[in-house]
Amino acid sequence: MTFVRPTIFALSSGRPPAAIAVVRVSGPQAGAALKALIGRVPEPRQAALVRVRDRQSGEAIDEALALWFPGPGSETGEDVAELQLHGGQAVIAGVLEALGRIEGCRLAEPGEFTRRAFENGKLDLTEVEGLADLIAAETQVQRRQAFRQLKGLIGDRAEDWRRRLVEALALVEARIDFSDEADVPENLVGPALHAARQLRDEIAAILAGSGRGERLREGLVVAIAGPPNAGKSTLLNRLARREAAIVSPYPGTTRDVIEVHLDLAGYPVTLLDTAGIRESSDPVEQEGVRRARARAAAADLILWVTDASAAGAVGAVESDRLSLPEVWWLQNKIDLMTQSAHSRSESADKEWVNRSFTISAATGAGMDELVAALAAYAQQFFSITESAFITRGRHRRALEETVASLDRALSAKVSRREELIAEEMRAAATTLGRLTGRVDVEDILDVIFRDFCIGK
Ligand code: GDP
Repeated sequence: MTFVRPTIFALSSGRPPAAIAVVRVSGPQAGAALKALIGRVPEPRQAALVRVRDRQSGEAIDEALALWFPGPGSETGEDVAELQLHGGQAVIAGVLEALGRIEGCRLAEPGEFTRRAFENGKLDLTEVEGLADLIAAETQVQRRQAFRQLKGLIGDRAEDWRRRLVEALALVEARIDFSDEADVPENLVGPALHAARQLRDEIAAILAGSGRGERLREGLVVAIAGPPNAGKSTLLNRLARREAAIVSPYPGTTRDVIEVHLDLAGYPVTLLDTAGIRESSDPVEQEGVRRARARAAAADLILWVTDASAAGAVGAVESDRLSLPEVWWLQNKIDLMTQSAHSRSESADKEWVNRSFTISAATGAGMDELVAALAAYAQQFFSITESAFITRGRHRRALEETVASLDRALSAKVSRREELIAEEMRAAATTLGRLTGRVDVEDILDVIFRDFCIGK
């Protein structure tokens, strides 16, 4: 017997050993797999306590909960079986082995369950991306954005645009096809262009107001910079509350850019320790300096750290840039200072500084204020993402192409006007279809599904 579509199975829960392991099976043989392993197929969508047996030896592998989700009402759209086992290595290995021996069953590839859900119309492409983001989400704000996308925030909207566009296109095509017939009204193109103009403006407005949605996936980038030995690594460690960077009393030892991901009040923040920025003849160090500059240049916020107890070590933020991001000056090592010197340093005024703080990365003095300010900054930075719509460059490019097509449709010259309008509207509809995965997307599918783990 051959099976048109292989039945796939995988461990869908996390790394064993764990309390529970979830093994999922999807495809035409899912019911047969349950019969082979537990002797029956439970009631749909109801948990059943079962013995899982190895068919060859008859030996019980484990006691488990079994679930049966008949297609097409299942997550993948196919018959789906799920076993909730004890999460031991040998239990899982035994069950996967037993499944592998069933004809037509094989281990799933990364993202293959989700791919089947997409192919069976359970999820559109933007929802698949939302699912990937939800699994990768590290902070509550990222989770919220991903969940909205998974639930169709972008996909439903794009599908609505596409539907309206196709309706407008039908008017233009009717005008072209029946232009010789007396009873087809002349003014079909007017309403079509009106609809196209409305769509164009709607999409353009969303493009203009976005950007932060893409950023939310990456996080706010904060670069810690300043002269060597100022205490940058110490600060990073304190902020990250772990030993992420090498703290050393000798200048110039932090050669690479060290990256730490933080969750600040629910917002994702990437902290960069940009090595002791200074000229050096050591090629390894030069490379560190070059990378530090490039990363710091792209940061949203620079924390410029100086040693407040050392005279003349203030340095300056690179000035060979057109627009500096916001710069906060952190006067570090205040624990080493006398009270009078302390107040003198605070009065220092630098025009490139947006705010200044006095801290001790070593003792933690002033850190609460700094962390609170960072959290407030992140919150403000991301405040408009609550309505963010575009979360990936792929979406942005598709919408930009759609607007460009509509612009061309709207500016079509009089000669062959209707054909040109129809052509551009068709192109715009195709681009929107590609956004949700309705039309020719094979090339981008692999890219999107590759990011999933096995069992999802
Ligand atoms: P970086 O080169 O800027 O990354 O500086 P480090 O973080 O490696 O710190 C250089 C030296 O200064 C180390 O010996 C730290 O222990 C010390 N240091 C850093 N912050 C403070 C501080 O707030 N107070 C004191 N007393 N020492 C500090």
